[in-house]
Amino acid sequence: MRKILTTFTDAEETENPPLSSDYRFAIRALLKANRSDLAFDLFRLRNLAHERRGTLPVDFGISVAVLKARLREEKKRKRKAEEGTEIVEYIIKEAELKVEEGGKAVVGAMIKLLIVVLTEGWVQYAKKVINMLERVHVEPGDGLDVADYNNAIRLLGKIKALDSVFVILELMRRSGVDRDNVTFEFLANAAVKQVEFITGAVSLDTLPDPIAPEVAFVGRSNVGKSSLVNMVCGRKALAYVSGRPGKTQQFNYFMINGNDHERRFYIVDLPGVGYAKVPKHLQAQWLDFMASYFRYRTSLRLVFHLVDGRHGTMEDDEQLMRQMAISGRQVEDYIVVLTKMDKMDKQKAKNRVLNKTRDALKRNGCSSNTTIVLTSANTKLGRDEMWRHLQRALSGRQMKQREVSRNK
Ligand code: GDP
Repeated sequence: MRKILTTFTDAEETENPPLSSDYRFAIRALLKANRSDLAFDLFRLRNLAHERRGTLPVDFGISVAVLKARLREEKKRKRKAEEGTEIVEYIIKEAELKVEEGGKAVVGAMIKLLIVVLTEGWVQYAKKVINMLERVHVEPGDGLDVADYNNAIRLLGKIKALDSVFVILELMRRSGVDRDNVTFEFLANAAVKQVEFITGAVSLDTLPDPIAPEVAFVGRSNVGKSSLVNMVCGRKALAYVSGRPGKTQQFNYFMINGNDHERRFYIVDLPGVGYAKVPKHLQAQWLDFMASYFRYRTSLRLVFHLVDGRHGTMEDDEQLMRQMAISGRQVEDYIVVLTKMDKMDKQKAKNRVLNKTRDALKRNGCSSNTTIVLTSANTKLGRDEMWRHLQRALSGRQMKQREVSRNK
């Protein structure tokens, strides 16, 4: 079999040197025969030949196959594939030339490469691949199997590379691939490593120090708030993690990823104004507290206002909208979430509640550009959008205009 190498070496000296496809064919045959060592030699010969001729390599799919085979075989022998990083560096150079062309085969090889480097723990290379995946040209129809993306997301989650997880999600969207339950399970695992109930605050001066960005979920009792928060975080029950907060009227603070200063954030669970059967004057006090919170809490990045999709907005929802309108917050920092939309299977009914909500927003001084998200904890509708908003708010990045308008 070694003869192949001499044949190719000799052929390189002639006027008709081997083409990339000749190399691909031979390398593939060697891999099939479990001779990744020879495949690697040929791969190296190919690369040197390219360099000498000053031509571009065009075949990085096969390079990834060589890499995988080398690592696998050396692992079997309990040895480290010394040439592993050499191959990766070469592949990254090759892949960079394919970013503009893109397409299914190219993305497939890039995702495979990403999975390999993540499995090996080569984070610096993973960053380079992610950077290419952010730019690679794809069109709807260029999608791979959802399991390939999920695998990449799982591995990125392990190293807490949440921004990179979103690069993969965006790539899926651009390629027209639907995310499935596993995608979201891995996304939630990547984003929410740890949950801890911190405190129940009853006034502005009992709020915890603003040491982390926070996202508030506001809504009257029974609107489906716990179910929605749990859906987003991929947990069965946030509240049970460390003692269930009482059903009193207070701001319940949950610290997410408390040990990780770069990725920690608060989820704040706020009962709606009309929640408890409390006297009018206490309700007014509560409303004041909320108003001050929206206006002055500097670490508050995003408010999800939950409205029961079956009934649409009620009087206390409208009060909340008025407060948001005068809070001085940006339009993208306030999102209305219609819950339990699985109960509204008719388009007409959906439109009715959407129109009712839009009217209420307008009537109470909120922007007509306020995003309304349709959700269901039962069918998991809207999980995707909820996460997109969370990610944008927590990373401080602006959502692309096109996505904002998509959600209108
Ligand atoms: P919370 O009081 O706002 O925290 O509301 P929960 O999450 O405890 O939900 C209140 C009730 O609504 C429970 O009976 C849930 O099973 C139900 N519920 C919550 N979310 C949904 C949903 O998306 N669809 C339907 N059909 N029911 C839901």
